Amino acid sequence: MRATRLVIFVAVLGCTALLWAQEAPTAPATPNQPQTQTQTAPSTPQADRPVADPPDPPAGEVTLTTTDHDKSKLTAQPSEALAPQASAVNFDQVVDRITARELIFLQNLRQFQPMVETYLQYMKPDKELGAVPSRDQYFLGRLELQTGRAKDVTFIKTSRFKNMWEALTSVFNLRFSDLGFATMVMPDNGGLSKANYDFQLVRREFLGDIRCLVIDVRPEDKHNGRFLGRIWVEDKDYNIVRFNGTYTGAPFMSFYLHFDSWRLNMQPGVWLPAYIYSEESELKPKVYVRAVRFKAQTRLWGYGLHTVHPQSEHTAVMVDDAQVKDQSEAGRDAVPVEAQRMWEHQAEQNVLDRLTRAGFLAEPGEVDKVLDTVVNNLEITDNLDIQPPVHCRVLLTTPMESFNVGHTIVLSRGLVDVLPDEATLAAFLAHELAHIALGHRLDTQYAFMDRMIFPDEATYRKLHFHRDGSDEKAADEKAMEILRKSPYSDKLGSVGLFLRMLELRHSELPGLVAAHLGNSPLTKDYRRFSTLEASAPALKTRDVSQLPALPLGSRIHVDPFNDRLELNKGKPVQLLSAREKMSFEVTPVFPYLTRYGGQESPAVASTGTGTKQ
Ligand SMILES: [Zn+2]
Repeated sequence: MRATRLVIFVAVLGCTALLWAQEAPTAPATPNQPQTQTQTAPSTPQADRPVADPPDPPAGEVTLTTTDHDKSKLTAQPSEALAPQASAVNFDQVVDRITARELIFLQNLRQFQPMVETYLQYMKPDKELGAVPSRDQYFLGRLELQTGRAKDVTFIKTSRFKNMWEALTSVFNLRFSDLGFATMVMPDNGGLSKANYDFQLVRREFLGDIRCLVIDVRPEDKHNGRFLGRIWVEDKDYNIVRFNGTYTGAPFMSFYLHFDSWRLNMQPGVWLPAYIYSEESELKPKVYVRAVRFKAQTRLWGYGLHTVHPQSEHTAVMVDDAQVKDQSEAGRDAVPVEAQRMWEHQAEQNVLDRLTRAGFLAEPGEVDKVLDTVVNNLEITDNLDIQPPVHCRVLLTTPMESFNVGHTIVLSRGLVDVLPDEATLAAFLAHELAHIALGHRLDTQYAFMDRMIFPDEATYRKLHFHRDGSDEKAADEKAMEILRKSPYSDKLGSVGLFLRMLELRHSELPGLVAAHLGNSPLTKDYRRFSTLEASAPALKTRDVSQLPALPLGSRIHVDPFNDRLELNKGKPVQLLSAREKMSFEVTPVFPYLTRYGGQESPAVASTGTGTKQ
């Protein structure tokens, strides 16, 4: 039995190493051609010449194809303004179509209640790196637009701030129009028309696979909250797929943020907001305050989980069938030890299911399998034979945390994103595997169903997988034992280096380091793998070949509609200078846009993606 497993181990290990190493950063060798995100298609910017072929005939209403959404209907092209017209469309008509599409967009958006996460890093000047984070803020909520006004439901209770949008405004004295922060998911709340704006066609350009019309947009009058900037409109149905700029007419002493907002084609004919990048380099909120500098990334996901139709609420149950099969032997009652294990397993399944329904846990998929393979490698070399088998899942949120729910190891997306290599990933998995091997149990209070009934926004208050100091210490010791026997034993220097970098930055990044459900790798009185940190090589800030931690967004791409994950498959990018290391930092986002159902999935490339040696 052991021999068979070892054979599999060797084969699978190679496979993982390949998958994971593709993204791993290393020292620069020869300069690569810089990758350009956009290609300009030849065109003449001229307002009245025909710019596009007519769109396809109206498709009418398109019913959502995902499970349990039979009551919710997304409008693809119901507007008369979008009906096929003459074969040549002049720019005036194009603008009318954009206006009509944007109204449909608003109508569609109101049917969803996506998760919204904003992670913001304030920057301070740094001699060697240009700028480094000085503090941060983290917001997690759900966007609800049903009444036409944005209502955000926060998942994190803080005494200082009433909600995330008010928090932002109070910090910067910034202004948002009536819709609050949600305005950044749309250039104008229904008012993007010829009556209110001047539209100038600039050129055609590809964003990913999508050919777009690039149009500069100026408000006719500086009405409070009108959009000023550029929009990218796909030239088939005239949906806005990206807009970049700010709002105009902020009252005295107030500011609107600048933003770059992206939509993805999540359902047939339907584009929905997925990413917003915001950045300010010399914002002076008040005359007597120094200029603030920050960068922030907003991500939306979980569109497929909740619609406004109560019938479909909480019906998208997605549990791995293999994990829910009855474990009892046919024809007899479980003996006491079996019953105890089944009870624990029930608690585990309840928790995983609840976290998935709340939009916290990604759907099972290819990333889990990569993590499972690394765990398998660790188990085999340590002769661990844990039943039922250990599996991995990924939390969709940014704060770096990990925990185990019974025999399931959970790592957060933010944590996986910043890990520099497979050995560091193995170390974090080994820590959780050690908890399991040592029999650190899940609290079986979660085996009772009433404990799973709570509003999603109460998730952080209702579920806890935090371990105390003695369990953490024991898990670390066991994990070191596992790692020393593992195929990663001679690569543990990078783990120590990662922890050193974390040590250097953690006090400026409490929002990133704080765990909400599990344990953070570093707290006031506990540092994970402190022996590895002590024996790690020194940090060389200016050395481009030493990358102790990656920027956020480096590893994982999230499908914002169905919460499925895949590993980013970015090509290697040569780092030009130490300023591009950006360990633990927020970066801009450049999704590769594709049409729904196209062969290629919209893999995301942020500037940190695909850094490789
Ligand atoms: Zn732990």
